[in-house]
Amino acid sequence: MDQPKHKYIYGPVTSWRIGKSLGVDPVSTLKKTCTFDCVYCQVGRTEVFPKDREVFVPTEALLKEIRALPDLELDYITFAGSGEPTLAKNLGDMIRGIRSIRKEKIAVITNASLISRRDVQEDLRLADRIEAKLDASSGDFLKNVNHPSPEITLVEIVDGLKAFRKIYHGHLTLQVMFIASNKKDAAGIVSLAREIHPEEIEINTPLRSCAVKPLPPEELEPITRIFREACGDGVRVRSVYESKREKSNPLCQPSTDWRRGQEPA
Ligand code: SF4
Repeated sequence: MDQPKHKYIYGPVTSWRIGKSLGVDPVSTLKKTCTFDCVYCQVGRTEVFPKDREVFVPTEALLKEIRALPDLELDYITFAGSGEPTLAKNLGDMIRGIRSIRKEKIAVITNASLISRRDVQEDLRLADRIEAKLDASSGDFLKNVNHPSPEITLVEIVDGLKAFRKIYHGHLTLQVMFIASNKKDAAGIVSLAREIHPEEIEINTPLRSCAVKPLPPEELEPITRIFREACGDGVRVRSVYESKREKSNPLCQPSTDWRRGQEPA
């Protein structure tokens, strides 16, 4: 494989969720670093479960790559990548730094495992859009699907999301990934989602290459209907199968493949 020419950024990728987006990976470690080890993760198994937030990428090193970008038409600059972005202690500095250079909106895709922390909430408040994972309505489903670090609990995640909702004025989306092992949890998840009050809910299933099979459209459609009926018109509910998916044309293919896996055929 060619050596990546970008160390901390990837894409742009075209996402069914947020359009044309340049990815920023504020963790960027060779050993996958996350607070979860989701069974469907396209990056592979988690090797490092950090005990606390830390600086993985110096802010200035990231900003140097951002300043060197060619002319690009983008909808978002999105923090995501090879691990959990809120593990980066300098996430807030990075968002502020990018805002001083680029005009695009900024999104953060997070597994919400640290969202009960005040410092994490303060960093996330700086973004225009937060996409937060919620794949379970009980500790058992959380363990089966997301394999979290032992100290992480569903109660803390849900309470953290509710607390964050109260202070956050941007666009909050809940992302729910359905696979065979949590499809029976749809009613429980929708009930938590109604308490959190997101603007939007994305119903997903893993279409990129990973260790588990996606649910077919005929199984995801009734789940999507449960969410629509329970949430009403006030919440936009979108399903991956109803959305147009386009091929991406990244600046650097190796740095993008490493974080995103292969595009579905
Ligand atoms: S939270 Fe994201 S990066 Fe972490 S294991 Fe799950 S899918 Fe992978």
